[in-house]
Amino acid sequence: MITAEGIVLRERPVGEQDKFIDILTKESGVLEACVKGARKINGKAGSSTQLFAYSRFCLNSRGDRLYLNSAEPIHIFYGLREELSRIALASYFAEVLGFCIRPQTQNGDIMRLTLNTLHYLEKGLRGEALLKAVFELRLMSEIGYMPDVVACKGCGSFEPEEVYFSVGDGGFFCKDCFSEGSGGNFYNFKLPVLSAVRHIVLADFDRLFNFRTSDAALSRLSAFAEDYLTTHLERSFRTLDFYRSVSGDGNGDTQG
Ligand SMILES: [Zn+2]
Repeated sequence: MITAEGIVLRERPVGEQDKFIDILTKESGVLEACVKGARKINGKAGSSTQLFAYSRFCLNSRGDRLYLNSAEPIHIFYGLREELSRIALASYFAEVLGFCIRPQTQNGDIMRLTLNTLHYLEKGLRGEALLKAVFELRLMSEIGYMPDVVACKGCGSFEPEEVYFSVGDGGFFCKDCFSEGSGGNFYNFKLPVLSAVRHIVLADFDRLFNFRTSDAALSRLSAFAEDYLTTHLERSFRTLDFYRSVSGDGNGDTQG
């Protein structure tokens, strides 16, 4: 028997009564488990295996499959369902996690990032565009694609007024060092956006969501963060297209 705390990232019906769920866990990556008789389970046991439930799971291993023995809810993010854009954004996070997180990997910080982001999203404590950018850039950093935010790659300047940040390369040049001939996809932005990127990739989890940006800076940050994630994961996400179609934030501003 395996015991694990985790978040349900995906559920798929199987046959008449059963379903498979993918669970993001701290110790074991994403686990797939079969829930027998899922359509008949109601109440507490039912809610603990639904999408975005954060629960304590007991799983039995038979053959090469895991089967749900029991589940106890820790927190059900009901507030996500209050707005379509919230559930759409959470679904995008879930699809990205399902794609990036391998089985048998330690994910303590990724669990924390996910739980914290869903918490702020559920309660409406931060704007969706900000949460999305934080999730994208911090997740990429946690899984090994941390951008190089320290200094200009040309002159070593720490706080240039204006930078050209390379999505593919993950580093930046100041205005003086950047030449138009530098190939690749560069985002031109001002110091406040660079400061936000630095905060997201470097801050302690306790302070991660505690920063503010102007609307203009947030718009640049959003475009950059989304491009950074999809470029490095080398794919787009169906749930991201859906989120774009239902959110008011838009993300038309993609090129600098
Ligand atoms: Zn420079």
